[in-house]
Amino acid sequence: MNDVRVRYAPSPTGHLHLGSLRTALYNWLFARHHLGVFLVRIEDTDLERSKPEYTQSILETLQWASMEPDEPVIIQSERIEIHRKIAHQLLTEGKVYRCFCTPAELRERLGESASQEGSYTRYDGKCRDKDVTNFDEKPFALRFRLQEDRQSILFNDLIRGPVQFERDQLDDFIIVRSDGTPMYNFVVVVDDAFMNISHVLRGEDHISNTPKQILLYEACGYAVPQFAHFSMILGPDGQRLSKRHGATSVLEYKQEGFLPDALCNYLVRLGWSHGDQELFTRQELFNYFDLGAMSKKGAIFDPKKLEWVNGMYIRNLSPEVILDTIERDMNHTWRTVFSKWSLSTLLKGISLYKERAKTLKELSDDLKSLHETPVKFPENPNFIDTSSVLNSLQAVEDLLERLDTFSYEFIDKTLKEFCHEAALSLSQLMQPLRIALTGKISSPGVASIIEVLGREESAYRIRLFRDYLKKKGRNEALTNN
Ligand code: GLU
Repeated sequence: MNDVRVRYAPSPTGHLHLGSLRTALYNWLFARHHLGVFLVRIEDTDLERSKPEYTQSILETLQWASMEPDEPVIIQSERIEIHRKIAHQLLTEGKVYRCFCTPAELRERLGESASQEGSYTRYDGKCRDKDVTNFDEKPFALRFRLQEDRQSILFNDLIRGPVQFERDQLDDFIIVRSDGTPMYNFVVVVDDAFMNISHVLRGEDHISNTPKQILLYEACGYAVPQFAHFSMILGPDGQRLSKRHGATSVLEYKQEGFLPDALCNYLVRLGWSHGDQELFTRQELFNYFDLGAMSKKGAIFDPKKLEWVNGMYIRNLSPEVILDTIERDMNHTWRTVFSKWSLSTLLKGISLYKERAKTLKELSDDLKSLHETPVKFPENPNFIDTSSVLNSLQAVEDLLERLDTFSYEFIDKTLKEFCHEAALSLSQLMQPLRIALTGKISSPGVASIIEVLGREESAYRIRLFRDYLKKKGRNEALTNN
């Protein structure tokens, strides 16, 4: 395919949400696959709803996901004069006409919904052939003049195949409002043509705009691009994914410790597949991604699978990169929380916990909890026989203090030998030790936890737990008597 130029065109009316990120991703991958150009245009002509801080946040999110445009970002509102000029040209050519109908008149003539934007009430053409040589400066909108002989509009959607709209689904739609602001369908066409867009790839919520845009391309004398409309992302109830279904803003995922590559890997599969492969490197996506394998059906968002993908990506990162990512995305001063640990201890801790974390937030919470000496222990620990537990805990405490080399291998070997000599099963020793060291019934391997905590802190925690058990035993004895 020659000269692929695609654009991602968000409206800055909120932070980027998952659906928009997927649209950006599909455009970006399509451009990379075809060695084309990926562009970004900020559609901020809705002045009431657009906010500069959202533009900023959208661009930052794209940067976070490494989907930066290949040419400078286009800001639609900066092109308003060009939009006006072209609207005027269409007026001069008779392709659009002035409409003086006020919303009140439209409502009266055509019914309540007639004055509402996006309503399907068709305009009756009252102003179509009005003599407008003298219009007394009354405000007017500009309406597209749908040709009499235009019976239908057909386009070949690259995902859906032929899509046809009949004449009775269209009317003389407004291209510039009576307050002078141009409408979305018009500016999109002018800007896509200006940016030489070859393929318009967007969500299926825009299908009904496409016939109007094709009419405008033709009226302006521009080449019509190809179109493809992706299916929507759905919530578990089959409805379009929205805030009702929980977090949808990409920023929230960032703060929860989802990695951009993992999020994109998860999103790419919501509507596209390559056999049953689930995990892809970016290079693989560049190689494989194309529109042929896109699904026409909406895909259901599955947070559990997203967590699984994220966990797989976390495991692939080095502890150094994880540390940097947490500080970049979640907490700039994260490492300072671990005041009792050196940097190399913190990195060891990250290595341990990255194997089980689904998000960086979970990893961070687990490590913070490990860093604090436990003050509470599970009510019903999964071990019994307190007196022998007390003895073995005491023995391990002594062993640790005497250990020559304080390394994982050595600690592990010593604990195993001790079990053997004391005729204990591994879990008979490890479970109480784990609870003593972490305050939890599940954790990474006990020997590696001891290595991270160090000799003194480990011994101290074991001692505290022994005291706790002794006190508990005394209390129980009192209650039983
Ligand atoms: N600004 C539109 C939106 O955010 C996108 C329009 C388009 O891709 O044509 O939905």
